[in-house]
Amino acid sequence: MRLHVIGSGSCLFRQEDRCPASYILETEHHNILIDTGAGTVDNIVKSEVSLGEIGCIINTHRHPDHVSDLIPIIQNRVVENVYYSGSEKNIDIYGPEGHESYVEGRVAEEMDSSLELLNEEFSFDVEVADVRESFKLVGLEIELREVEHGSDEFPCLAVRVDSGEKSVVFTGDTDYFEELADFSEGADLLVADCSMPDDKKAEGHMTPSECVRLAEKADTDKLLLSHLYPDMDEEGELREFDFEDVIKAEDLMKIEI
Ligand SMILES: [Zn+2]
Ligand SMILES: [Zn+2]
Repeated sequence: MRLHVIGSGSCLFRQEDRCPASYILETEHHNILIDTGAGTVDNIVKSEVSLGEIGCIINTHRHPDHVSDLIPIIQNRVVENVYYSGSEKNIDIYGPEGHESYVEGRVAEEMDSSLELLNEEFSFDVEVADVRESFKLVGLEIELREVEHGSDEFPCLAVRVDSGEKSVVFTGDTDYFEELADFSEGADLLVADCSMPDDKKAEGHMTPSECVRLAEKADTDKLLLSHLYPDMDEEGELREFDFEDVIKAEDLMKIEI
């Protein structure tokens, strides 16, 4: 598997080299887009994966820095199909409870259409599913669990992708909690929400020390610190941690897994 960091930033637009959250996980059968914050489309165009190759999207939650560019991706495929011989790949979208009606609502408001109409008219389908625990894609096991980012009415998911040989965990936006280490156990790569430095801890997010603690407890191979607020860049060099493989994310960075 290969990870493309599409956006390593957060909801603050003060870092000219960081878009909000978005990653592409390239696997043998699928290019999975995890989160679709603002700027996702712009940065995918600059990456080695084309928009037409995206067949699966998982939104961890519905804060704008994780969902803004979702409808532009659908609109792009529609227009590519109308005016050019665009991709016929289906788009399967997964998200926490309420995601199906959320996407339906945005398609109605922003595209004056419905998923049913789009699926009748074009040579690809857009399917949306609310997900809670786990599901399978060809060659992959996808596990999910709710994390600690806010109220129960606004769920956020951590995502674990297992290919049988390798595994990657995306924490989603979350505070540190012990069970997240069990969920991340033995992952080859842990992509962690590292919003703020240790001395500026924000509730519902992790600091570098908490991310390292999580990686150590889960005995993961590599740790990618991402979802970085401007404060994480203003702090200069990352402190030296005992955990060996700590990487600070950059947009358009690639990591072999
Ligand atoms: Zn966020
Ligand atoms: Zn959030």
